[in-house]
Amino acid sequence: MRIGSGFDVHAFGPGDFLMLGGVRVPHSRGVRAHSDGDVVLHALCDALLGAAGLGDIGEHFRDTDPKWRGADSARFVTTVLAMVQAQRLKVVNADVTVLAQAPQVTPFRAAMRQRIAQLLGIAEACVNIKATTTEGLGFLGRAEGIAAQAVVLLAET
Ligand code: MG
Repeated sequence: MRIGSGFDVHAFGPGDFLMLGGVRVPHSRGVRAHSDGDVVLHALCDALLGAAGLGDIGEHFRDTDPKWRGADSARFVTTVLAMVQAQRLKVVNADVTVLAQAPQVTPFRAAMRQRIAQLLGIAEACVNIKATTTEGLGFLGRAEGIAAQAVVLLAET
C-alpha cells in the first residue's frame, strides 16, 4: 500500500463559475489559472503522483505549455491515472477536502463524488468529499481564492 497527499490553491479572478472536482459550480468569481483551475482535481493528481512516487503535477503539465491552456483538468487525472497504473498500482480510495469561504460545496458534493469515482474507475463509496471554511481567517477566509487537499491510497495490482 502507498499513500499520497496533494494540495492546491487558485486565486479568484474574473468569471462566473468554478470547476470543482470536474463539476461546474456557479459562483460570483472565476479562478486565475492556466488550465481550468480545478483545485480539487489538481490536488487529486498530486496525491496520485505522490503515492506512486512520480513527482508533482507541475512537472508533468507545465503551466507555461500552451497545450494545457484552458485544459479540462479531467485530462490531467486520466493521464496521471495511466501513469499510476503503469507502475502496477490501483486506487483504493480518495479523500478530498475543499477549503473556501464560498461557494458552498454541499449542493455539488454528490456530483463531484460521482465524477471523481468515474475518472478514477472506482466505486463512489471509495471517494469522499469534505468541505470547510477557515472561519473567515486568512486568504481563504477573505474569499481571495479556493484551496483543496487530497489523500489517496494505492495498492499493488
Ligand atoms: Mg492548480
